[in-house]
Amino acid sequence: MNQPIPYGRQNITEEDIEVVIETLKSDYLTQGPKIAEFEESFAAYVDSRYAVAVSNGTAALHLCAMSLNIQSGDKVITTPITFAASANCIRYCGGEVVFADINPETYLLDIDKVRDLLESAPKGTYKGLIPVDFAGRAVNLEEFRNLAEEYNLWIIEDSCHAPGGYFVDSNGNKQLCGNGQFADLAIFSFHPVKHIACGEGGMITTNDKKLYEKLLKLRTHGITKSEEIFENSIEFAGGASGNSTFPNWYMEMQELGYNYRLTDFQAALGTSQLKRADEGLEKRRMLAARYDQAFADKKFAKGQSGVIEGHAYHLYVLEVDDRLGLYNYLRENKIFAQIHYIPCHLMPYYRELGWREGDLAQSEEYYRNCISLPMYPTLEKNEQDFVIDHINNFYEVD
Ligand SMILES: *Cc1c(COP(=O)(O)O)cnc(C)c1O
Repeated sequence: MNQPIPYGRQNITEEDIEVVIETLKSDYLTQGPKIAEFEESFAAYVDSRYAVAVSNGTAALHLCAMSLNIQSGDKVITTPITFAASANCIRYCGGEVVFADINPETYLLDIDKVRDLLESAPKGTYKGLIPVDFAGRAVNLEEFRNLAEEYNLWIIEDSCHAPGGYFVDSNGNKQLCGNGQFADLAIFSFHPVKHIACGEGGMITTNDKKLYEKLLKLRTHGITKSEEIFENSIEFAGGASGNSTFPNWYMEMQELGYNYRLTDFQAALGTSQLKRADEGLEKRRMLAARYDQAFADKKFAKGQSGVIEGHAYHLYVLEVDDRLGLYNYLRENKIFAQIHYIPCHLMPYYRELGWREGDLAQSEEYYRNCISLPMYPTLEKNEQDFVIDHINNFYEVD
C-alpha cells in the first residue's frame, strides 16, 4: 500500500467538475441562480424550511450569533470537544463562552452538566446553547429544547459533522440534524473533510422566517433591496415626487453586516455533491460497522459499542492505550489518523479568559486517549483492512 491514507478526504467526480466548468462559463460567478438552487436542495435534504448559503461554517456561526443579537457579556454554553469556531462565534459578538463537560459515553454536551449550570445561576444569566453533533452523532435536541424553554434560551445546532444524521424523538420520529424542529438555527460546513465539499462553504438552516430574513441581510453587508422594509423616504431615494415606488437602483444598508457570500461555482459543486450525500453516508456507516466489529473485543481500545441509529460518521473515534505510540506508528505507515479535539477551553486563548486544567474532567480524560481513524466514502475495504491490521500489529494482537 503506497498511497497515504488520510483521516478524511473529499470525493470529486467528473460530473462535479463539469457543473463547475459550466457555471464558470455562465453569466454569474457569484450572486446568480446556483445559490438558490443549492439552498433549496439543501433545505429539502435536511427537511428545514429555509437555508442560507455562506462562505464557510465559521461565517455561518458568526451570522447566527449576530442574528440572535448576542451582546457583550451574554453567556452562552457549548462543549469543549469541538472545533474552536463553535465557541469563537460568541466571542466575535463580545459574549462569554461557558464550556460544559461532555458525556463520556456519547462524547456530546452533557445535558445534566448544562442543567447544573442553569440551576446554579439566576434565571436570565444564560442566553443560549450551542450543542454540537460531534463526529456525526446527533444531539437529542428534543431534550435540549425542553431545557431551553424552561430558561428562555435559544439553540444553535452545530451540525458540521452531521448532514443526514438524525436522532429518534420521544414519539418515535426521526429528527434530521438541522431540520429546525428544536433548534432555532443550525449550521453546516462544506470544507473538503466534511461530507459535502465546496472547497470552502457553509449553510445555515432554520424554520424561523424572521431569522431567515435577517440572515440574508447580514450575509450581504446588512443591505436590502426589499422595498417594503425601506426606512428612508421615496423623495430622498430620488423617486419622482408623488410617486409610490422607489427607483430601481435604490437599496439600503440597514445594519452592519459582512460579505459572507458563497460563489455560484461553489454552490454548483455543492448541489452536485449533495446528490451523492446519501450514498456517501451509507458507505460511512458500512465502514463504521467494520471498525466496530474489528475492535469490539479488543482490550486496547474503547469505542462507542453497538449500532448508533442516525450517526453520520464524519469521524470514527476510538479511545486507546498509548495513543501517541499508535499515532506515530500509523504515520510511519502513511496512515494519517487525527485527534479531535484538543479541548477548546484549554487553548491558550481560552486559558487567558480563565479556564484551567481540571475544569472539565470528562473532556480532558477523553482527549488523553482519543484518535480518529480514516473515515471517508472512497476508503476502500482493503485500505481499511490495512488500517485495522496495523492497529492490531501495534498492540501485537491479531
Ligand atoms: C468544520 C467545522 C466548523 C467550521 O467550518 P469551516 O467551514 O471550516 O469554517 C465549525 N464547527 C465544527 C464542529 C466543524 O467541524
